[in-house]
Amino acid sequence: AFWPLAAIFAAALLVVGRRMVRQMTEPLQAMEQAAERMAEGRYEADIPVRSDDEIGRLAEAFNQMADAIAKEDERKREFLANVSHELRTPLSYMKGYSEALLAGLAKTKEEEKAYLRLIHRETERMERLVRDLLDLARLEGQSVPLERAPVAFAQVIEDVIATYEPIAAQKRIELACELDYDIIVNGDADRLEQVVRNLLDNAIRYTPEGGVVTVRLSRLSEAEGELVVQDTGKGIPKDQLPFLGQRFFRVDRARTRKEGGTGLGLAIVKQIVSLHDGVIWFDSDLGRGMTVFVRLPLVREEE
Ligand code: ADP
Repeated sequence: AFWPLAAIFAAALLVVGRRMVRQMTEPLQAMEQAAERMAEGRYEADIPVRSDDEIGRLAEAFNQMADAIAKEDERKREFLANVSHELRTPLSYMKGYSEALLAGLAKTKEEEKAYLRLIHRETERMERLVRDLLDLARLEGQSVPLERAPVAFAQVIEDVIATYEPIAAQKRIELACELDYDIIVNGDADRLEQVVRNLLDNAIRYTPEGGVVTVRLSRLSEAEGELVVQDTGKGIPKDQLPFLGQRFFRVDRARTRKEGGTGLGLAIVKQIVSLHDGVIWFDSDLGRGMTVFVRLPLVREEE
């Protein structure tokens, strides 16, 4: 009775063994095929995760990687589409107005000047756009590292405010500030200045005449300082807050285009803050103004 039993046992072993091998190799084959597809730019991988062993975990990691690559690819595509859209608009304005000029459509010297002014406005917009894009690419690629040194942040803020005084005065906006002059940030002075400039620029731009813009710099603890830029302008709807800082995000595309915005200012700010190991968040509601909070680690006094 031994031999038949052994035969059955061997057969069973064979069946189980084959299934085990198949279970192991199937995901591997699927991964190989998916990898080949990915090389051709098709990123969807849905490798079945059947087991809780190394192979299963590998399949899971593979799926996650494919997903991440697909998302990054989508992001790049979207970015490129946005950039070309943003560039196409001023270009078509410039083309249209210059063609009108060339065709002699401007009847008077005044009209001619008006067309030229529009062309000039659009070149300026493109200049800003290209500069901001380059800035953002540099910050994100970290090709130009921060030049960190102890920075007296209040002084930086004061200087920026001084340059905005005339613009604010023209709009009859009051610029108020409360600055703690003892705050030292270990940071890149030019980049920190850019943060303040972009935030102040927005606050003044999106606040109507007679409003107030307040800049506050204070110490929260030994190790942490906070910059607050608050305006009494129109603000943005609460449900739009999470999108602030996304590239090309504008609450009202038509309106902000007229106001000269590129939709990159806050993305740049966000990137700079994060390179300084800081955090940024926003509070607003429609018609209730905007408040931007930036928290940064500080150089401790005794150091
Ligand atoms: P932009 O160059 O268009 O101002 P930003 O990245 O600086 O680009 O801002 C993105 C969008 O967020 C703006 O288009 C505007 O709709 C909104 N926004 C930013 N700051 C304010 C503010 N202080 N008050 C109201 N809306 C704001």
